[in-house]
Amino acid sequence: MQVDYIIVGFGLAGMAISKELEDKGHSIVVLDNASQVSSRVAAGVFNPVILKRFTPVWNADEQLDCLFPFYKEVSEKFGGEYLTFFETLKVFKSIEDQNNWFMACDNPLLEKYMNPKILKDEIKGIHYFEGFGEVKGTGRVLVKKVLDDYILYLKNKNQFLEIPFVHDELEINEESVVYKDITAKKIIFAEGYGLKENPFFNYLPLTGTKGEMLFIKAPELKLTQQIKSALFVLPVGDDTYWIGATFNWNDKTLDPTQGGRKELVDKLNTMIDVPYEIVNQFGGIRPTVKDRRPLVGKHPVHKNLIVFNGMGTRGVMIAPMVAKQLYNYLENKEPLPKEIDIERFK
Ligand SMILES: Cc1cc2nc3c(=O)[nH]c(=O)nc-3n(C[C@H](O)[C@H](O)[C@H](O)COP(=O)(O)OP(=O)(O)OC[C@H]3O[C@@H](n4cnc5c(N)ncnc54)[C@H](O)[C@@H]3O)c2cc1C
Repeated sequence: MQVDYIIVGFGLAGMAISKELEDKGHSIVVLDNASQVSSRVAAGVFNPVILKRFTPVWNADEQLDCLFPFYKEVSEKFGGEYLTFFETLKVFKSIEDQNNWFMACDNPLLEKYMNPKILKDEIKGIHYFEGFGEVKGTGRVLVKKVLDDYILYLKNKNQFLEIPFVHDELEINEESVVYKDITAKKIIFAEGYGLKENPFFNYLPLTGTKGEMLFIKAPELKLTQQIKSALFVLPVGDDTYWIGATFNWNDKTLDPTQGGRKELVDKLNTMIDVPYEIVNQFGGIRPTVKDRRPLVGKHPVHKNLIVFNGMGTRGVMIAPMVAKQLYNYLENKEPLPKEIDIERFK
């Protein structure tokens, strides 16, 4: 088989660059062995405001400008719906929280997303303190669904192989790479935390942060908005909710843990006061980077080896924008923005 690009890894990053390349007429083959699951367990939320500090997400407007057309086009391609929209309500614990909210609303980068009016109505089942702040323009990508539909589409064209990529077996030539019976001009590694096993790029400072989430059923909670306090409580239909997430910098396993469950339950109990049943628990490793920016670029020696990683805690918003930047770098000779270029770790 002869293709333009081999892509290793099909999470949010692999999917975004696959679409970008295919849309522009390049041939691809994807390899994935389901060894990482960050995208599959992600709640899929996009939110342009960092609710811990009331600051804008890095390049939020540009990211959203890429995200919406991306999923509109994917919907047209497969006939599925992958985007849902809702407001996000931040629980104010104190008057100081309210004051910080008012100040942030004056930031020109935030004013279109943040409602300056404090919402005072109580919400059934949610502990009330000093009202709520409303973020507009938030929503969710149904990540697992879109990945599954995309994989099926690629499999039908024999462009998706469910096999592990073994780095030692890659033959690297001046103008091509060869892996088993596949010859390609370039190979893109979008392996998430799996990058740690990649001898070509594991010098990059990918830290990895484990996240665990609960999936609960709470019939008395009738939420239509996402609520953010110690955790987020996200309605996903049929009286079910995603609850998340933990941040653990030491444990690099994918398994859900008792410790993670306890932390989530303890925090959840400070937020809601209706009965609930835990239906499931998930864990995954977010591909986080020391300086919180993506890891994109060519290998310092082998120029046909490319990395596309470091989506961190926000792969939903980041991946479509950075995939465009990577495409323009590879095919249109446009420079990469310095803050995402792996040259910064030379
Ligand atoms: C609990 C949790 C909740 C989250 N919630 C959100 C959220 O609401 N919104 C948001 O934007 N982000 C969220 N994130 C973060 C988001 O999941 C990540 O930013 C994103 O999924 C990273 O995508 P990726 O494609 O880089 O990595 P991954 O999703 O990890 O994909 C990498 C792929 O590469 C494959 N792979 C790796 N090595 C090999 C190999 N050698 N051979 C073959 N295949 C290989 C893996 O099997 C995997 O499919 C969350 C993460 C977690 C853990």
